[in-house]
Amino acid sequence: QLIFLDGNFVKKEDAVVSVYDHGFLYGDGIFEGIRAYSGNVFRLDEHLTRLYDSAKSIMLTIPYTKEEMAHIVAETLRKNDLSNGYVRLVVSRGVGDLGLSPYSCPKATVLVIAEPLRIYSKELYETGLDIVTVATRRNRSDVLNPMVKSLNYLNNVLVKIEATLAGVPEALMLNDQGYVAEGSADNIFIVRDKKLLTPPGHVGALVGITRNAIIDIARSKGYEVEEAVFTRHDVYTADEVFLTGTAAEVIAVKTVDGRVIGDGKPGPITDELLVSFRELTLTDGYK
Ligand code: PLP
Repeated sequence: QLIFLDGNFVKKEDAVVSVYDHGFLYGDGIFEGIRAYSGNVFRLDEHLTRLYDSAKSIMLTIPYTKEEMAHIVAETLRKNDLSNGYVRLVVSRGVGDLGLSPYSCPKATVLVIAEPLRIYSKELYETGLDIVTVATRRNRSDVLNPMVKSLNYLNNVLVKIEATLAGVPEALMLNDQGYVAEGSADNIFIVRDKKLLTPPGHVGALVGITRNAIIDIARSKGYEVEEAVFTRHDVYTADEVFLTGTAAEVIAVKTVDGRVIGDGKPGPITDELLVSFRELTLTDGYK
């Protein structure tokens, strides 16, 4: 496996970063999770836009242009012989001294890892997920904006721990006011009377690229989609609930906190959107 690290492709064993890197010391950095399907890097431009917007927001200079970065991502997949795979792109503040100040870090660290995918089993797509809501809250969007996909993922890690302790693969985070925000690494949609609802970014959701693709697909099929603030009650009583994300794609939810959603099987709209999403992934990409 070859990893892109600061301008070179190096073996996995040699891909090491300094203990003085502020990404390690402070979680000072940003990342993207991207996916390639049959050689197409799905919506790479949107991922890079989010990356460069995140960088701008935290005053981090990425030492490559967007075009160069697109090429690096495609090249990392090629070097690893992967036409289907998951790409992790990380830009950290770089090496500095022990102080918090990013001004001691002259150059960002950039790394790109491409791996085969590890996703939910085929069976889980057919049955849907059991999920729970957890005590960990999404950080307030006016404090650390969820639009910045930063390396501070401690909330999300805590969600994963709570989910694991509850014996389920994924969990839902509420925001500090108790409104539904998102999963540990997925967005949530609920369907009621054929209308789709998903929380807006300001509730504390990352505006996911899969989420946006699903909104486009659903609207093109004539479904009404609204960004809306909603509670657990709305989730429990929805006709369908599904999660979206780069790794998960579109996956149905079977139960939430023990409440069976609909008739306990992936709903027709969820299934329809998954099929269309998979079709889109084969055409809509960067080569
Ligand atoms: N929410 C969080 C916190 C995430 O980390 C991710 C993954 O990137 C998502 C949602 C889903 O976003 P996307 O569809 O862009 O992968």
